[in-house]
Amino acid sequence: MMPFPSQGMRQDEIEHALDAFADKDKDWKNGRVPMYVFRGNADAYHVGRNAFFRYFSENALGANRAFTSIKTMQEDIIHKCIHLLNGNAAMHGSMTSGGTESIFLATRAARAEKRLKHALAKGAGNIVLPETAHPAFAKAAQSMDLEERRIPVLENGRADVMSMSMAIDEETIMMVGSAPCFPYGVIDPIEELGALALSKNIWLHVDACVGGYLAPFVRDIGYAIPKFDLGVPGVASLSADLHKYGFCPKPASTVFFSDEQRHAMAGFDLDVWPSGRFITPTLVGTRPAGGIAGAWATLHFLGAQGYRKIAEKIMTMRNEYIAGIQAIPGYRLIADPDLAILAFHNPDIDMAQVAALMLESGWLPNMTQKPMGLHLMLSLLHDAARTQYLSDLSRSSETVRHRMAMGGRGPRESAKY
Ligand SMILES: *Cc1c(COP(=O)(O)O)cnc(C)c1O
Repeated sequence: MMPFPSQGMRQDEIEHALDAFADKDKDWKNGRVPMYVFRGNADAYHVGRNAFFRYFSENALGANRAFTSIKTMQEDIIHKCIHLLNGNAAMHGSMTSGGTESIFLATRAARAEKRLKHALAKGAGNIVLPETAHPAFAKAAQSMDLEERRIPVLENGRADVMSMSMAIDEETIMMVGSAPCFPYGVIDPIEELGALALSKNIWLHVDACVGGYLAPFVRDIGYAIPKFDLGVPGVASLSADLHKYGFCPKPASTVFFSDEQRHAMAGFDLDVWPSGRFITPTLVGTRPAGGIAGAWATLHFLGAQGYRKIAEKIMTMRNEYIAGIQAIPGYRLIADPDLAILAFHNPDIDMAQVAALMLESGWLPNMTQKPMGLHLMLSLLHDAARTQYLSDLSRSSETVRHRMAMGGRGPRESAKY
């Protein structure tokens, strides 16, 4: 057993130990990790970081009573983001610790509404969603005893609205569309899903966790982005993560509801506790105020103009990655991406062996498993790494092609998040 430290270490020893730990990590600062981390620009990073540490000790659980500054910043962020996402004055929302919590809250509210309005029994209820929807929905469904009905997507990677429609029954509490989905980076037909939701009177959640704070600006600079946001009729709730393409420090996500009542159903209110009435708008109790201050600072530092400039750079870099990938013999994109998530493969070679070779070269290879391919979620951390990445990909692919032609087989990576 490891003994609990009996004596404290000096701060310089601590720093030294932390450096040694970090040395073992993948080289994410130089673009060798294709997910988990995001970068807009260096100035926005420093502004967000500063704001985070100014509010290092405050607790967002106390935003209503002790830290009204945090409440003010939260409300400001929510209102301005509702505007960005084409919502209206009736809409409400919360800041959360991440996409998973935002999705939990939307699911919780959808189930509560179904129970209230349609007398859904406890233990009943299902969610109809494309197979590409994030595992956070499965986590929520498992935790709330809901059945998940994952429906295969179309050839183009987008939700099959017709099949989803057929999977709906009187116990369906929610339908889901992603903008975009993580595996293929494509935006589901949200307008069609909204029309279906209205016609069947079913809650539609749009999971814009990864795209919500990038897509509006990519549209602004001239790319065709299908309608996906709070302006689409039939959308009951929407999740969007500020700590992804909003380039804000973690943890920071948002979840929006089409009206105040729906928002209230996501919240928590208990009045039997000896310590008094306990109200939280979200799942967690204590939460870092730094995430809220960091998000407020980053949004206001960049403004729409700053986000547009970053979107321009990201899409230019994305286009260069696409051109580079397609220039490697046999490679093609698995779907035609709407934003900066790319899934691609050479169907003639074993991509699991290519991934293993990329790992050996110091890249964290993210993969898709249906079909087997590689996956990149690009931000400006990945700009400087592009040439090296493409040349290592080309060389690794050649090695695997050669190996396979000789009837050999090397180590294989498996697809995991
Ligand atoms: C990242 C992501 C989530 C979950 O968000 P976390 O912040 O990791 O909890 C949900 N949906 C999509 C599409 C995502 O990309």
